[in-house]
Amino acid sequence: MSESEGLKVVLIGESGAGKTSIIQRFAYKLFDPNCASSISSQYISQTIELKEINKALKFEIWDTAGQERYRSMAKIFYKDAKIILFVYDITCLKSFEELKDYWITQVKENCSQKALLGLVANKCDMYDQQQVPTDDGMKLANDIGAVFQYTSAKSGVGINSLFENLGRKYLDPTFDYQAADKTAMEKFKKKKEEEKKRNKDKKNRCVKLDAQKNKRKGCCG
Ligand code: GDP
Repeated sequence: MSESEGLKVVLIGESGAGKTSIIQRFAYKLFDPNCASSISSQYISQTIELKEINKALKFEIWDTAGQERYRSMAKIFYKDAKIILFVYDITCLKSFEELKDYWITQVKENCSQKALLGLVANKCDMYDQQQVPTDDGMKLANDIGAVFQYTSAKSGVGINSLFENLGRKYLDPTFDYQAADKTAMEKFKKKKEEEKKRNKDKKNRCVKLDAQKNKRKGCCG
C-alpha cells in the first residue's frame, strides 16, 4: 500500500464547536467531555487506509483556536493547508453565523492555493436541540463549494467517514462526497428513530402494566 506525504488539515471554528473533540475521536478513538476547549494550536498525525484503491493517506491535523485573540494567528495555519474544515455546533446558531460572517471570508481572502473545503456539522447526537437547520448547512456548503458532513465526536458518528471521504475526494475530485454523506446521515437518523421507537414501546409497555396493576387493585380492593 503506497503512503502519501502528510496532508495538512486545519480545523476552523468557534471555541466550543468541538474541534479538539473531533480530532481526539479520530486520532485516539475517545471522547472526553471534560477536555478543555482549544486554547492554542496543536498538530496530530493520523494515517488512514483506503483499501479499495490500495492507498494510505497521512493527515497532519491542526486544531486552530477560534477565540477572538487567536484570530490573527489562524492565518498562519490555514495558508498552506490542503484541506480546511469549518466546524460548527448544530445546537449553537452563533457558531454557524461566525463561520458565515467571519471565518469563511477570511479563508477565502488569505488562502492562495485551492484547498479542499469541508463544512462539518458537529454534535449531531444533540439533534433534538438543533438550532441550525440542515438545509442552511447544506446551502452554505453548496455556496462555498465545500463538502458537508454531520459528525458527533461524542458518539463517533461521521468522524471516520469525514476523513475517509475527504481523502477519497482529495485523491479523486470526481468522487461523489454528497452521496456518501447522505448514506451516513440516513443511517444515523434510522438508528435514532429505532432508538426512539424502542423507548416509546418500552414506555407504552410500562403504562399498560401500570394500568393493569391499577385495574387489579380496583377489582380486588
Ligand atoms: P473546541 O473549542 O472547538 O475545540 O471544542 P471542544 O472539542 O473543546 O468541545 C467543546 C465542548 O463540547 C466540550 O465540552 C466537549 O465535550 C463538547 N463536545 C464536543 N463535541 C461534541 C459532540 O459531538 N457531542 C456532544 N454532545 N458534545 C460535544
